[in-house]
Amino acid sequence: MIKTKLVDVTLKDTFRTTHGAADSKRLVIVDIDGGLGEASPVNYYGESVETVLDYLNRASENLSLDTLQMEGLSAALDSIAAGNSAAKAAIDIALHDRLGKNLNLPVYALYGIAPREDIATSYTISISDPDSMKRQTLQNPGYQVYKVKVGVPGDIEMVAAVREATKARIRVDANAGWSAREAVQKIKALAKYDIEFVEQPLHWKDFEGFRLLRHKIDVPIIADEGIMRAEDIPQYSGLVDGINIKLQKSGGIREAYRMICVARALKMKIMIGCMIETSIAISAAAQLAPLVDYVDLDGNILISDDPYDGVKAVNGFLKYPPRPGIGAIART
Ligand code: MG
Repeated sequence: MIKTKLVDVTLKDTFRTTHGAADSKRLVIVDIDGGLGEASPVNYYGESVETVLDYLNRASENLSLDTLQMEGLSAALDSIAAGNSAAKAAIDIALHDRLGKNLNLPVYALYGIAPREDIATSYTISISDPDSMKRQTLQNPGYQVYKVKVGVPGDIEMVAAVREATKARIRVDANAGWSAREAVQKIKALAKYDIEFVEQPLHWKDFEGFRLLRHKIDVPIIADEGIMRAEDIPQYSGLVDGINIKLQKSGGIREAYRMICVARALKMKIMIGCMIETSIAISAAAQLAPLVDYVDLDGNILISDDPYDGVKAVNGFLKYPPRPGIGAIART
């Protein structure tokens, strides 16, 4: 039985990227026999709250949800419909949470993963005018690393403004906003601000462009938008330095774990990221965070009214609550 609930959350600062801007977001929370999951649909992957609810309805009627047979889950979810990765993630997360609660173990333990206390998440600075971006940084101090959204005219000045506000590491994410020639110029200009890596500089299908960057640029490049599942990774091998895995793209924890295995085999760096999410989806992604190189799990700290409590950055480092499953609970 899949129970669903809509939750509206409010962003602390307008969340603006090349994909658009938002001050709030509607999320779909699911409860499967006490296991909690979450879908945070994004329109550039063709999903909405409506498509998520529609998919969950069909899944509710057609799926047998046995937590001890999770290996068959992806195929079962795909047989209902292709795509719908956020909706699938909600089910996968809820079943992992329920299995962990049944066994009284955190999900990371189910995967044999040793917990760590030294996992720093980045804090995202949204596209705005440089002064506002400086203010966003100053108002959210104490992070080891900031991720600055770029990919628009004037973005060099935006990074310069954030650099004025912090000595912490800075990574940038162009969300496919640059052409290859533009990316070469911009990344060279950004070098003086000490950039850790550049996420998705180009359109995800611009393989020619990625090849050009490989020759012209030393800063590591991480692919995000074009990487949904494990099968998407090999085509980027040798063209980028790493990939950004998100549960809302992969369809859940199980496929994200497979992606980590594939990326490691291809000697690629691994980042784990998120959408605008509550502590349910963030806590789920955090279960795999000890395995990756870069962590960007700030969805729950970018919002001001998270209805849930779970894994959350404290002084910039992920703090895991001593609870089974994904460790998320409703705030009382
Ligand atoms: Mg990104």
